[in-house]
Amino acid sequence: MTKNKKQSVKYKQTTVYVITNYPIRPKICSACSRESKIDLHHWKYEWETKEVKKNPILALKNTQPLCMHCHRIANAMKLVDENSDIVQQITKKKEEKWET
Ligand SMILES: [Zn+2]
Repeated sequence: MTKNKKQSVKYKQTTVYVITNYPIRPKICSACSRESKIDLHHWKYEWETKEVKKNPILALKNTQPLCMHCHRIANAMKLVDENSDIVQQITKKKEEKWET
């Protein structure tokens, strides 16, 4: 068994440390299998930063190790997904209008 290591994870603007022997950042991209510099992509930021600071493992939830190339695609996919429902966009705009 390999030794536990203090590994840094970025969550929004904050860096937290998770102590584990699990390789958080492997050398291979989980999408294209290329060997490259790997980033952790957050599909979702579910928690407030203060909660993540208290329990750093939360910073790894909803993450996936991706190379720079796939990370860029994943970020675009996230935006596509967020804006995918045109009806929601219309009603959201309406609500905003009603609010003012
Ligand atoms: Zn990749």
